[in-house]
Amino acid sequence: MERGKNSQQVISGPPPVKLVNRETKPEGTIVNVQGIQIGSSEVVVMAGPCAVENREQLLAIARAVQASGGKILRGGAFKPRTSPYSFTGLKEEGLKLLATVRQETGLPVVTEVMDTRQVEMVCRYADILQVGSRNMQNFALLEEVGQCNIPVLLKRGMSATIKEFLFAAEYILKHGNQQVILCERGIRTFETSTRYTLDLNAVPMLKKLSHLPVIVDPSHGTGHWWMVPWLAKAAVAVGADGLLVEVHYKPEEALSDGPQCLRPDKFDSMMQEINKVARAVGRKISIPKPIHELSNSTV
Ligand code: PEP
Ligand code: MN
Repeated sequence: MERGKNSQQVISGPPPVKLVNRETKPEGTIVNVQGIQIGSSEVVVMAGPCAVENREQLLAIARAVQASGGKILRGGAFKPRTSPYSFTGLKEEGLKLLATVRQETGLPVVTEVMDTRQVEMVCRYADILQVGSRNMQNFALLEEVGQCNIPVLLKRGMSATIKEFLFAAEYILKHGNQQVILCERGIRTFETSTRYTLDLNAVPMLKKLSHLPVIVDPSHGTGHWWMVPWLAKAAVAVGADGLLVEVHYKPEEALSDGPQCLRPDKFDSMMQEINKVARAVGRKISIPKPIHELSNSTV
């Protein structure tokens, strides 16, 4: 090999992250969504259908989620689908349904924005903008949501390293928006028995490297509804600040992601279980008391 000037050259990587770095804010960031604090001692659960399908579906699920202690309603109006022949969402009609159900229940809503051209519209209806796994490195979109003044839920790209994930968040902060929530949602590995491999290593690692709150999506991370409560408990035990969970009354009829949706009764028992784990690790979840207990306590 020729030994010359070039062989001395150091090939350096990108400069390290600055704005998202834990050192810039050792106390951690708390993202405030209509008074709900993500990144505090409370574990915040966001739940709802994968896709908004119609008013009855959304309202019924929202009420069930709320009764079980869910604090934020999720639901996609713009759906990134592998096949263009699958249901790609109700678009603005879906956003309007989210806004109506927010009004009726008081639950803030988180919904995905897939394209820079949709940002303004989605901002008019949403309380949190979700940037999906497939768009984690859509830098134009990151810059655009970085200029919004509502919080962003940034999902980890399914093949992104922790470093790439943090750089994606750095784009958003660099453009002015400091209200970012990181979401681990599973990565691609050689394993095929689950939809993705939920990388729970990411939670303590992200919290060590960054001051941003970290939540976990055990629905996409596993692809199997029966696994969701197990991984939800594990996520809380490992330090997650919140969860993003898919819920549907009739998963077999869901227009997307039915196999990973929890029925409301299973969601309710999951909430009871994660509550115990949260307490064991010094966190809390505020779950409304069942109606019969409320009436007993007032007698
Ligand atoms: C979703 O939350 O519905 C979704 C599409 O998630 P992801 O981007 O993680 O696949
Ligand atoms: Mn989904």
